Amino acid sequence: MATKAELGSARDEYYRCLDRARSSCSDCNYQQALDWCINSFPFIDEMMQFERKHLNGNHSEIESISLALYLGPLILNQKCLVEVASLLTACKRIEKNTTANIAAELQIARQRLWVAHRFWKMLTKNGATNNDDISTILEDHENLRIQLISTWDKLGLVRIVDDAGPSRIELVTNLNELTSAKCPACGAIGKARKAKLLEEVSCPKCKSRVVFVQIVST
Ligand SMILES: [Zn+2]
Repeated sequence: MATKAELGSARDEYYRCLDRARSSCSDCNYQQALDWCINSFPFIDEMMQFERKHLNGNHSEIESISLALYLGPLILNQKCLVEVASLLTACKRIEKNTTANIAAELQIARQRLWVAHRFWKMLTKNGATNNDDISTILEDHENLRIQLISTWDKLGLVRIVDDAGPSRIELVTNLNELTSAKCPACGAIGKARKAKLLEEVSCPKCKSRVVFVQIVST
């Protein structure tokens, strides 16, 4: 049985990770935000225990899980969904002690990821979208369409063609174009092709399997 102090320090650690996830998210470092969400997972159970016992807290949602399930599909990251699934299996108490249905949210996230993949594939094949493509793939996914386009626009992957309606987007000039990117494991900065920014690659410096984070100039 963990002591109050132990539970309290796990809770601090959870909120530290969550804060970092949020601030990475506002900096458009979505991959890094996901990594911070995943880093918070080992502390969730004890954070919840502390809040139940000492703060009379009820959990209607676990924010770092919600953020991971929201962001993952937008940057085509399947790993975080796998991490959520293993967390729920490894620690059944988490799901049991929230009023949210995390398993159902995970299922929705899987579906969103699948749709996002199809959309991205169509875009990389044709170089642009039109309303017909959009309605074929993203029918019934209006919010997802808006979120994907806005996320990919922020990452510099697509350009919104304003005069042709909100659905018309084009891939940026060239996905082979090089952009500055940073290894999230060792911090090495190098050039990466834009097409590779959503994929796991081997860092030439530290050899970790990572998704390079684009350095966004604002
Ligand atoms: Zn590295």
